[in-house]
Amino acid sequence: MSLSANYSSLTSWIEVPEGSDFPIQNLPFGIIRINGGKKRVASRIGDNVIDLKTLFVLGYMENLPFEMEDFDSDSLNRMMRKGKQGTRKLRERLLKLFSTGSADLKNHEHHVNQVVVPIDQVEMCMPVEIGDYTDFYSSREHATNVGTMFRDPDNALLPNWLWIPVGYHGRASSVILSGEAIHRPKGQQKPAEDQNPVFGPCKLLDFELEMAFITYDGKALGDSISTEEAEDYIFGMVLFNDWSARDIQKWEYIPLGPFLAKNFASSISPWIVTLDALEPFKVDGPDQQPEVLDYLKYRGRKSYDINLEVLIQPDGGEENSVCKSNFKYMYWTMAQQLAHHTVNGCNVRSGDLMGSGTISGPTPDSYGSMLELAWKGTKPIPMNDGSERKFILDGDTVIMRGFSSKDGVRVGFGEVSTKVLPTK
Ligand code: CA
Repeated sequence: MSLSANYSSLTSWIEVPEGSDFPIQNLPFGIIRINGGKKRVASRIGDNVIDLKTLFVLGYMENLPFEMEDFDSDSLNRMMRKGKQGTRKLRERLLKLFSTGSADLKNHEHHVNQVVVPIDQVEMCMPVEIGDYTDFYSSREHATNVGTMFRDPDNALLPNWLWIPVGYHGRASSVILSGEAIHRPKGQQKPAEDQNPVFGPCKLLDFELEMAFITYDGKALGDSISTEEAEDYIFGMVLFNDWSARDIQKWEYIPLGPFLAKNFASSISPWIVTLDALEPFKVDGPDQQPEVLDYLKYRGRKSYDINLEVLIQPDGGEENSVCKSNFKYMYWTMAQQLAHHTVNGCNVRSGDLMGSGTISGPTPDSYGSMLELAWKGTKPIPMNDGSERKFILDGDTVIMRGFSSKDGVRVGFGEVSTKVLPTK
Protein backbone atom coordinates (compact mmCIF):
# COMPACT_ATOMS: atom_id res chain seq x y z
CA MET A 1 0.00 0.00 0.00
CA SER A 2 1.38 3.39 -0.90
CA LEU A 3 1.36 5.50 2.21
CA SER A 4 0.90 9.20 1.98
CA ALA A 5 3.80 11.42 2.95
CA ASN A 6 1.85 12.79 5.89
CA TYR A 7 1.02 9.29 7.21
CA SER A 8 2.48 9.79 10.67
CA SER A 9 0.78 13.15 11.15
CA LEU A 10 -2.63 11.85 10.05
CA THR A 11 -5.26 12.38 12.74
CA SER A 12 -8.97 11.71 13.15
CA TRP A 13 -11.83 13.95 14.20
CA ILE A 14 -12.67 11.14 16.63
CA GLU A 15 -10.64 11.64 19.79
CA VAL A 16 -7.79 9.18 20.30
CA PRO A 17 -6.42 8.98 23.86
CA GLU A 18 -2.64 9.22 24.34
CA GLY A 19 -1.01 5.81 23.94
CA SER A 20 -4.08 4.22 22.32
CA ASP A 21 -3.54 1.12 20.17
CA PHE A 22 -6.18 2.42 17.77
CA PRO A 23 -5.28 5.68 16.01
CA ILE A 24 -6.74 6.24 12.55
CA GLN A 25 -3.65 4.54 11.08
CA ASN A 26 -4.86 1.23 12.54
CA LEU A 27 -8.53 0.77 11.56
CA PRO A 28 -8.80 -2.90 12.60
CA PHE A 29 -11.83 -5.04 11.86
CA GLY A 30 -14.02 -6.93 14.31
CA ILE A 31 -17.53 -8.13 15.05
CA ILE A 32 -19.65 -6.26 17.59
CA ARG A 33 -23.08 -6.46 19.18
CA ILE A 34 -24.88 -3.45 20.61
CA ASN A 35 -27.57 -3.90 23.29
CA GLY A 36 -27.88 -7.59 22.51
CA GLY A 37 -28.82 -6.83 18.90
CA LYS A 38 -27.61 -8.55 15.77
CA LYS A 39 -23.89 -8.96 15.24
CA ARG A 40 -22.27 -6.70 12.69
CA VAL A 41 -18.93 -5.65 11.26
CA ALA A 42 -17.09 -2.77 12.91
CA SER A 43 -13.82 -0.89 12.98
CA ARG A 44 -12.35 1.15 15.81
CA ILE A 45 -10.75 4.55 16.42
CA GLY A 46 -9.58 5.37 19.95
CA ASP A 47 -12.28 4.29 22.41
CA ASN A 48 -15.06 4.30 19.83
CA VAL A 49 -16.19 1.68 17.37
CA ILE A 50 -17.42 2.45 13.87
CA ASP A 51 -20.54 0.53 12.93
CA LEU A 52 -19.88 -0.40 9.29
CA LYS A 53 -23.34 -1.75 8.62
CA THR A 54 -24.92 1.55 9.58
CA LEU A 55 -22.25 3.41 7.63
CA PHE A 56 -23.26 1.37 4.59
CA VAL A 57 -26.99 1.90 5.11
CA LEU A 58 -26.47 5.66 5.41
CA GLY A 59 -24.79 5.68 2.01
CA TYR A 60 -21.12 6.25 2.88
CA MET A 61 -19.86 3.10 1.13
CA GLU A 62 -20.90 4.02 -2.41
CA ASN A 63 -18.74 2.71 -5.24
CA LEU A 64 -17.13 0.08 -3.05
CA PRO A 65 -17.40 -3.63 -3.97
CA PHE A 66 -19.57 -4.49 -0.96
CA GLU A 67 -23.22 -5.27 -0.20
CA MET A 68 -25.02 -4.61 3.06
CA GLU A 69 -24.90 -8.34 3.89
CA ASP A 70 -21.10 -8.15 3.99
CA PHE A 71 -21.39 -5.95 7.10
CA ASP A 72 -24.71 -7.25 8.46
CA SER A 73 -22.97 -10.47 9.38
CA ASP A 74 -21.87 -12.40 12.45
CA SER A 75 -18.37 -12.91 11.04
CA LEU A 76 -15.88 -11.12 8.81
CA ASN A 77 -15.67 -14.09 6.41
CA ARG A 78 -18.16 -12.70 3.93
CA MET A 79 -16.48 -9.30 3.80
CA MET A 80 -13.08 -10.96 3.41
CA ARG A 81 -14.28 -12.83 0.32
CA LYS A 82 -13.91 -9.50 -1.50
CA GLY A 83 -10.17 -10.08 -1.19
CA LYS A 84 -7.26 -7.78 -0.57
CA GLN A 85 -8.32 -5.22 -3.17
CA GLY A 86 -11.80 -4.97 -1.65
CA THR A 87 -10.77 -4.59 1.97
CA ARG A 88 -8.01 -2.18 1.00
CA LYS A 89 -10.54 0.09 -0.73
CA LEU A 90 -12.73 -0.12 2.36
CA ARG A 91 -9.81 0.87 4.57
CA GLU A 92 -9.02 3.80 2.29
CA ARG A 93 -12.65 4.95 2.49
CA LEU A 94 -12.55 4.84 6.29
CA LEU A 95 -9.26 6.76 6.32
CA LYS A 96 -10.90 9.43 4.18
CA LEU A 97 -14.18 9.67 6.10
CA PHE A 98 -12.61 9.86 9.55
CA SER A 99 -9.54 12.04 8.88
CA THR A 100 -9.36 15.46 10.45
CA GLY A 101 -10.68 17.97 7.95
CA SER A 102 -13.01 15.50 6.25
CA ALA A 103 -16.54 16.85 6.58
CA ASP A 104 -18.67 14.34 4.61
CA LEU A 105 -19.75 12.41 7.68
CA LYS A 106 -18.60 14.68 10.49
CA ASN A 107 -21.02 17.47 9.53
CA HIS A 108 -24.02 15.13 9.78
CA GLU A 109 -24.29 14.85 13.52
CA HIS A 110 -27.35 12.60 13.44
CA HIS A 111 -25.36 10.16 11.26
CA VAL A 112 -22.28 10.36 13.50
CA ASN A 113 -24.43 9.48 16.50
CA GLN A 114 -25.59 6.29 14.79
CA VAL A 115 -22.22 5.23 13.39
CA VAL A 116 -19.79 6.07 16.22
CA VAL A 117 -20.43 4.07 19.40
CA PRO A 118 -18.38 4.16 22.63
CA ILE A 119 -16.49 0.89 23.14
CA ASP A 120 -18.01 0.41 26.61
CA GLN A 121 -21.47 0.12 25.04
CA VAL A 122 -20.34 -2.67 22.75
CA GLU A 123 -19.93 -6.41 23.18
CA MET A 124 -17.03 -7.84 21.21
CA CYS A 125 -17.69 -11.14 19.42
CA MET A 126 -15.57 -13.74 17.58
CA PRO A 127 -14.35 -11.89 14.49
CA VAL A 128 -14.15 -14.84 12.13
CA GLU A 129 -15.71 -18.22 11.60
CA ILE A 130 -12.50 -20.22 11.57
CA GLY A 131 -12.66 -23.07 9.08
CA ASP A 132 -9.22 -24.49 9.67
CA TYR A 133 -6.57 -23.74 12.23
CA THR A 134 -2.91 -24.49 11.58
CA ASP A 135 -0.13 -23.98 14.11
CA PHE A 136 3.49 -23.51 13.13
CA TYR A 137 6.63 -23.93 15.21
CA SER A 138 8.69 -21.13 13.75
CA SER A 139 10.73 -19.54 16.55
CA ARG A 140 14.27 -20.86 16.50
CA GLU A 141 14.82 -19.88 20.14
CA HIS A 142 11.66 -21.69 21.25
CA ALA A 143 12.47 -24.84 19.29
CA THR A 144 16.05 -24.72 20.63
CA ASN A 145 14.89 -24.27 24.23
CA VAL A 146 12.40 -27.12 24.02
CA GLY A 147 14.93 -29.36 22.27
CA THR A 148 17.52 -28.54 24.93
CA MET A 149 15.15 -29.38 27.77
CA PHE A 150 13.64 -32.56 26.38
CA ARG A 151 16.26 -34.05 24.07
CA ASP A 152 19.87 -33.00 23.64
CA PRO A 153 21.42 -29.54 24.19
CA ASP A 154 24.03 -30.33 21.51
CA ASN A 155 21.42 -31.25 18.91
CA ALA A 156 18.51 -29.15 20.10
CA LEU A 157 17.06 -28.48 16.65
CA LEU A 158 15.77 -31.51 14.78
CA PRO A 159 17.40 -32.00 11.33
CA ASN A 160 14.35 -30.76 9.38
CA TRP A 161 13.82 -27.56 11.38
CA LEU A 162 16.03 -25.20 9.34
CA TRP A 163 14.54 -26.55 6.07
CA ILE A 164 10.80 -26.69 6.79
CA PRO A 165 8.43 -24.28 8.57
CA VAL A 166 7.22 -27.13 10.77
CA GLY A 167 3.48 -27.09 11.50
CA TYR A 168 0.47 -29.23 12.35
CA HIS A 169 -3.29 -29.02 11.95
CA GLY A 170 -5.00 -27.83 15.11
CA ARG A 171 -8.62 -27.65 16.18
CA ALA A 172 -10.75 -24.68 15.07
CA SER A 173 -13.85 -25.35 17.21
CA SER A 174 -12.09 -24.53 20.49
CA VAL A 175 -10.54 -21.22 19.40
CA ILE A 176 -12.18 -18.73 21.77
CA LEU A 177 -12.37 -14.97 22.16
CA SER A 178 -10.47 -12.91 24.72
CA GLY A 179 -12.53 -12.63 27.91
CA GLU A 180 -13.92 -16.15 27.83
CA ALA A 181 -12.61 -18.22 30.76
CA ILE A 182 -11.32 -21.76 30.36
CA HIS A 183 -11.41 -24.74 32.70
CA ARG A 184 -8.22 -26.60 33.52
CA PRO A 185 -8.09 -29.62 31.21
CA LYS A 186 -7.91 -33.21 32.44
CA GLY A 187 -6.10 -36.09 30.84
CA GLN A 188 -3.55 -38.85 30.98
CA GLN A 189 -0.14 -38.07 32.37
CA LYS A 190 2.82 -40.33 32.89
CA PRO A 191 4.85 -39.26 35.94
CA ALA A 192 8.47 -40.34 35.55
CA GLU A 193 8.39 -42.32 38.81
CA ASP A 194 5.27 -44.31 37.87
CA GLN A 195 5.18 -47.31 35.59
CA ASN A 196 1.69 -46.60 34.28
CA PRO A 197 -0.05 -43.37 33.34
CA VAL A 198 -2.46 -41.65 35.72
CA PHE A 199 -5.58 -39.61 34.98
CA GLY A 200 -6.38 -36.20 36.48
CA PRO A 201 -6.32 -32.42 36.10
CA CYS A 202 -3.34 -31.07 34.17
CA LYS A 203 -0.62 -29.95 36.60
CA LEU A 204 1.56 -28.16 34.06
CA LEU A 205 -0.84 -25.74 32.36
CA ASP A 206 1.01 -23.28 30.15
CA PHE A 207 0.40 -20.41 27.74
CA GLU A 208 2.12 -20.00 24.41
CA LEU A 209 2.75 -16.43 23.29
CA GLU A 210 1.88 -16.42 19.60
CA MET A 211 0.39 -14.26 16.92
CA ALA A 212 -1.86 -15.65 14.20
CA PHE A 213 -2.74 -14.52 10.70
CA ILE A 214 -6.13 -14.85 9.04
CA THR A 215 -6.38 -15.66 5.35
CA TYR A 216 -8.53 -14.56 2.45
CA ASP A 217 -9.81 -17.21 0.07
CA GLY A 218 -6.77 -18.83 -1.53
CA LYS A 219 -6.45 -20.71 -4.78
CA ALA A 220 -8.07 -23.91 -6.03
CA LEU A 221 -7.04 -27.26 -4.62
CA GLY A 222 -3.84 -28.28 -6.39
CA ASP A 223 -2.50 -24.73 -6.78
CA SER A 224 0.15 -23.09 -4.60
CA ILE A 225 0.68 -19.58 -3.22
CA SER A 226 4.24 -18.28 -3.65
CA THR A 227 6.11 -16.21 -1.08
CA GLU A 228 5.76 -13.32 -3.54
CA GLU A 229 1.97 -13.68 -3.59
CA ALA A 230 1.49 -14.55 0.08
CA GLU A 231 0.60 -11.08 1.35
CA ASP A 232 -2.28 -10.88 -1.15
CA TYR A 233 -3.85 -13.81 0.71
CA ILE A 234 -3.32 -12.58 4.28
CA PHE A 235 -6.01 -10.30 5.71
CA GLY A 236 -4.48 -9.46 9.07
CA MET A 237 -3.21 -10.59 12.44
CA VAL A 238 -4.37 -11.16 16.02
CA LEU A 239 -2.73 -11.95 19.34
CA PHE A 240 -2.94 -15.65 20.03
CA ASN A 241 -2.56 -17.63 23.27
CA ASP A 242 -2.19 -21.25 22.32
CA TRP A 243 -2.90 -22.97 25.66
CA SER A 244 -0.87 -26.09 26.33
CA ALA A 245 -1.03 -28.89 28.89
CA ARG A 246 2.62 -29.86 29.14
CA ASP A 247 2.19 -33.06 31.16
CA ILE A 248 -0.51 -34.38 28.83
CA GLN A 249 1.60 -33.33 25.84
CA LYS A 250 4.70 -35.17 27.03
CA TRP A 251 2.91 -38.51 27.23
CA GLU A 252 0.72 -38.31 24.11
CA TYR A 253 2.77 -36.55 21.44
CA ILE A 254 4.72 -39.50 20.06
CA PRO A 255 4.37 -40.33 17.18
CA LEU A 256 1.68 -38.03 15.71
CA GLY A 257 2.26 -34.81 17.64
CA PRO A 258 0.01 -32.64 19.81
CA PHE A 259 -3.59 -33.71 20.43
CA LEU A 260 -5.49 -33.27 23.73
CA ALA A 261 -2.67 -31.17 25.20
CA LYS A 262 -3.56 -28.45 22.69
CA ASN A 263 -7.14 -28.78 21.50
CA PHE A 264 -8.99 -27.76 24.68
CA ALA A 265 -8.62 -24.01 24.00
CA SER A 266 -6.70 -21.32 22.12
CA SER A 267 -7.56 -17.65 22.72
CA ILE A 268 -7.50 -14.75 20.23
CA SER A 269 -7.79 -10.98 20.55
CA PRO A 270 -10.98 -9.47 19.07
CA TRP A 271 -9.60 -6.93 16.56
CA ILE A 272 -7.91 -8.09 13.38
CA VAL A 273 -5.17 -5.64 12.45
CA THR A 274 -4.66 -5.65 8.68
CA LEU A 275 -1.32 -6.16 6.97
CA ASP A 276 -1.93 -2.76 5.36
CA ALA A 277 -1.95 -1.14 8.81
CA LEU A 278 1.23 -3.01 9.72
CA GLU A 279 3.07 -2.09 6.50
CA PRO A 280 5.16 0.73 8.07
CA PHE A 281 6.46 -1.69 10.70
CA LYS A 282 8.01 -4.20 8.30
CA VAL A 283 11.56 -5.29 9.05
CA ASP A 284 14.06 -7.71 7.58
CA GLY A 285 13.63 -11.33 8.55
CA PRO A 286 16.55 -13.21 10.11
CA ASP A 287 19.40 -14.49 7.99
CA GLN A 288 18.55 -18.07 7.05
CA GLN A 289 21.38 -20.60 6.89
CA PRO A 290 21.44 -23.11 5.28
CA GLU A 291 19.92 -21.38 2.28
CA VAL A 292 16.31 -22.45 1.98
CA LEU A 293 14.83 -24.29 -1.00
CA ASP A 294 13.67 -22.12 -3.90
CA TYR A 295 9.95 -22.15 -3.04
CA LEU A 296 10.76 -20.69 0.41
CA LYS A 297 13.00 -17.88 -0.86
CA TYR A 298 11.58 -14.38 -0.72
CA ARG A 299 12.57 -10.82 -1.51
CA GLY A 300 12.12 -7.69 0.56
CA ARG A 301 10.97 -7.17 4.11
CA LYS A 302 8.52 -9.82 5.22
CA SER A 303 8.83 -9.65 8.99
CA TYR A 304 7.18 -7.19 11.38
CA ASP A 305 8.40 -5.31 14.44
CA ILE A 306 5.63 -6.00 16.96
CA ASN A 307 6.36 -5.64 20.68
CA LEU A 308 4.73 -8.39 22.73
CA GLU A 309 4.17 -8.78 26.46
CA VAL A 310 2.68 -11.48 28.68
CA LEU A 311 1.24 -10.75 32.11
CA ILE A 312 -0.12 -13.03 34.83
CA GLN A 313 -2.81 -11.67 37.13
CA PRO A 314 -3.53 -13.85 40.16
CA ASP A 315 -7.17 -13.96 41.32
CA GLY A 316 -7.97 -10.50 42.73
CA GLY A 317 -4.34 -9.40 42.44
CA GLU A 318 -2.14 -7.20 40.29
CA GLU A 319 -0.77 -7.86 36.83
CA ASN A 320 2.78 -9.25 36.75
CA SER A 321 4.76 -8.85 33.56
CA VAL A 322 6.55 -12.15 32.94
CA CYS A 323 7.70 -11.89 29.32
CA LYS A 324 8.64 -9.28 26.74
CA SER A 325 9.19 -10.59 23.24
CA ASN A 326 8.83 -9.42 19.63
CA PHE A 327 7.27 -10.92 16.53
CA LYS A 328 10.42 -10.08 14.56
CA TYR A 329 12.28 -12.91 16.34
CA MET A 330 10.42 -15.45 14.20
CA TYR A 331 12.79 -17.44 11.99
CA TRP A 332 10.18 -18.31 9.35
CA THR A 333 8.05 -15.46 7.96
CA MET A 334 4.29 -15.66 7.38
CA ALA A 335 4.97 -15.59 3.62
CA GLN A 336 7.15 -18.68 3.95
CA GLN A 337 4.60 -20.39 6.19
CA LEU A 338 1.79 -19.83 3.68
CA ALA A 339 3.97 -20.83 0.72
CA HIS A 340 4.96 -24.01 2.53
CA HIS A 341 1.36 -24.73 3.59
CA THR A 342 0.15 -24.61 -0.02
CA VAL A 343 3.19 -25.96 -1.90
CA ASN A 344 1.63 -29.42 -2.02
CA GLY A 345 -1.63 -28.02 -3.42
CA CYS A 346 -3.43 -27.64 -0.09
CA ASN A 347 -6.05 -24.87 -0.33
CA VAL A 348 -6.82 -22.14 2.19
CA ARG A 349 -10.14 -20.42 2.71
CA SER A 350 -11.45 -17.11 3.96
CA GLY A 351 -11.16 -17.20 7.76
CA ASP A 352 -8.43 -19.81 8.16
CA LEU A 353 -6.23 -19.13 11.17
CA MET A 354 -2.48 -19.75 11.14
CA GLY A 355 -0.59 -19.58 14.45
CA SER A 356 3.03 -18.48 14.40
CA GLY A 357 4.20 -20.89 17.05
CA THR A 358 5.51 -19.73 20.41
CA ILE A 359 7.52 -16.53 19.98
CA SER A 360 10.63 -16.69 22.13
CA GLY A 361 13.40 -14.14 21.90
CA PRO A 362 17.12 -14.49 22.59
CA THR A 363 17.05 -13.56 26.30
CA PRO A 364 15.47 -15.51 29.20
CA ASP A 365 12.94 -12.72 29.85
CA SER A 366 11.73 -12.95 26.25
CA TYR A 367 10.75 -16.62 26.30
CA GLY A 368 7.15 -17.13 25.22
CA SER A 369 5.99 -19.89 27.57
CA MET A 370 6.18 -20.76 31.26
CA LEU A 371 7.95 -23.99 30.29
CA GLU A 372 10.88 -21.87 29.13
CA LEU A 373 10.55 -18.86 31.47
CA ALA A 374 10.65 -21.08 34.58
CA TRP A 375 12.86 -23.61 32.73
CA LYS A 376 10.81 -26.78 33.38
CA GLY A 377 9.94 -25.57 36.88
CA THR A 378 13.55 -25.10 38.00
CA LYS A 379 13.39 -21.27 38.03
CA PRO A 380 10.04 -20.19 39.49
CA ILE A 381 8.83 -16.69 38.52
CA PRO A 382 8.10 -14.41 41.52
CA MET A 383 4.77 -12.54 41.66
CA ASN A 384 4.17 -9.17 43.37
CA ASP A 385 2.00 -10.84 46.02
CA GLY A 386 4.89 -13.02 47.24
CA SER A 387 3.74 -16.20 45.49
CA GLU A 388 5.61 -17.76 42.59
CA ARG A 389 4.71 -19.54 39.37
CA LYS A 390 6.21 -22.51 37.59
CA PHE A 391 3.07 -22.93 35.50
CA ILE A 392 -0.42 -21.35 35.50
CA LEU A 393 -2.63 -21.80 38.58
CA ASP A 394 -6.42 -21.82 38.91
CA GLY A 395 -7.71 -18.25 39.23
CA ASP A 396 -4.85 -16.79 37.20
CA THR A 397 -5.64 -14.59 34.24
CA VAL A 398 -3.09 -14.62 31.42
CA ILE A 399 -2.98 -11.40 29.41
CA MET A 400 -1.05 -10.80 26.19
CA ARG A 401 -0.61 -7.37 24.63
CA GLY A 402 1.10 -6.24 21.46
CA PHE A 403 1.81 -3.10 19.48
CA SER A 404 4.06 -1.62 16.81
CA SER A 405 5.49 1.86 17.14
CA LYS A 406 7.41 4.10 14.74
CA ASP A 407 7.69 7.84 14.04
CA GLY A 408 5.18 8.61 16.79
CA VAL A 409 2.52 6.26 15.40
CA ARG A 410 1.43 3.32 17.54
CA VAL A 411 -0.63 0.55 15.97
CA GLY A 412 -1.69 -2.06 18.49
CA PHE A 413 -3.74 -5.18 18.98
CA GLY A 414 -5.38 -4.48 22.35
CA GLU A 415 -5.15 -7.68 24.34
CA VAL A 416 -6.09 -11.30 24.66
CA SER A 417 -7.04 -12.10 28.25
CA THR A 418 -8.15 -15.48 29.57
CA LYS A 419 -8.90 -16.62 33.13
CA VAL A 420 -8.22 -20.19 34.18
CA LEU A 421 -10.97 -21.83 36.27
CA PRO A 422 -10.66 -25.13 38.16
CA THR A 423 -11.25 -28.42 36.38
CA LYS A 424 -14.92 -29.16 35.69
CA1 CA B 1 1.48 -23.55 19.64
